[in-house]
Amino acid sequence: MWAQSSSIIMYQQNTTSRPARTFSNFSQRPSSPSRGPSRSYSSRGPSRGGFSGSSRFSGPSRGGPRRRFGNIINPALFVKRAEEFTKIEETNPVHSFADFNFDPQLLANIKAKGYLKPTPIQDQLISEVLAGRDVLGVANTGTGKTAAFALPLINAIIKNPNKRILILAPTRELAQQIKSDFRDFTPGLRVYFALAIGGAFMREQIMDIRRGPNVIIGTPGRIMDLNRRRVINFAQFDTLVLDEVDRMLDMGFVADIKSIVSQITQAHQTLFFSATVDKKIEILIDTFLKNPVKVALKTTPTSSHVEQDVVRVPRYEKEGTLCKLLKQEEFKKVLVFTSTKLYAEKLTLSLKSQGFSVDSLHGDKRQSQRVSVIRGFKEDQLKIVVATDVAARGLDIHNITHVINFDQPATYDDYIHRIGRTGRADQKGYALTFIDP
Ligand code: AMP
Repeated sequence: MWAQSSSIIMYQQNTTSRPARTFSNFSQRPSSPSRGPSRSYSSRGPSRGGFSGSSRFSGPSRGGPRRRFGNIINPALFVKRAEEFTKIEETNPVHSFADFNFDPQLLANIKAKGYLKPTPIQDQLISEVLAGRDVLGVANTGTGKTAAFALPLINAIIKNPNKRILILAPTRELAQQIKSDFRDFTPGLRVYFALAIGGAFMREQIMDIRRGPNVIIGTPGRIMDLNRRRVINFAQFDTLVLDEVDRMLDMGFVADIKSIVSQITQAHQTLFFSATVDKKIEILIDTFLKNPVKVALKTTPTSSHVEQDVVRVPRYEKEGTLCKLLKQEEFKKVLVFTSTKLYAEKLTLSLKSQGFSVDSLHGDKRQSQRVSVIRGFKEDQLKIVVATDVAARGLDIHNITHVINFDQPATYDDYIHRIGRTGRADQKGYALTFIDP
């Protein structure tokens, strides 16, 4: 339950729901390059059991228990039209960035990054973080959560160079991305940060951390490891940020997180962010946050920028159907999700042999390979990436036009995060989920 003492700010958006439509029997339809899948829907569609468009964080319709196999998610949840959305530059936030009294160099860096106005979550949270409040920010994928905590914390470091901040993220990729946002926001400023993630050389990380950076950004496993080696002393931090906190709990980091939080005795400020919040996280929130400001900007579980549909296809035709889709002109930059590393690899090899520009991203790849695949995808050298859920959270890659769930996700929360890789910031995206006919 939400703590009585906290202020809850709800931000309602236009949630008019439209009839769901199904992209059925794709494989039996002739595909025409000028007619994308969104034009080929049949009007028959499953009912949208479960969602009313209201803001809710938990409940039986959210995919049920985590199971690897089996069709446990109601396919109706994979079908939804994108909604009309207002571009950031057309919104009317209460604050401008100048209103936050940021350091002039920080303001210049924000402008250089191309941020003209705060997004809704930034609009509501930056002043609360600046005021030192504990915060829970729940907002859809791709809505600017990183800057909502990074900008006020950077400003706080400029004012107090002794500030020490620990930022935890569930995946190495997300940690790296947060670091890269910090890098973008801090040219010309004396703000120092270090990365502590698995799969990378420990020695370099130790050297970086021994220099005493203001911010350490890491994944829980490596952070705990460095703590055991006495490189990181949790007592030195005054601020803790947990990004994608529900995922960290889901990945079995709960003991680590509890241990870290209990040792950060000096923590004056704790910030939790997530696109999804369930019962487990609510309990933790109430244990760890002191009189928090809770801002929930979700009116729908998935991003309103993403047009979602299913492709009804038998298992043996999935690959052929995928190839047909990938050949269509509008599938410009595509993230394909499979359920296993092995299948991600096999599918990648098969697509490569058919001439597609494709690579794979999963936990069996060396960290350096993972970094290079993400770079290739970001820089448009790769058109397709076939990934496991390691790529589902937090990855911010511009212009992913389509997410294809070649294999269904294990839970509806995983689905939300997977499809959140498209339709980010001011863009519209498409998500297709392959299901049995
Ligand atoms: P995030 O949810 O933090 O991963 O951000 C999603 C995307 O929105 C990223 O590409 C950000 O660079 C972009 N973004 C965040 N804040 C703003 C803003 N105020 N103006 C324009 N783009 C933004």
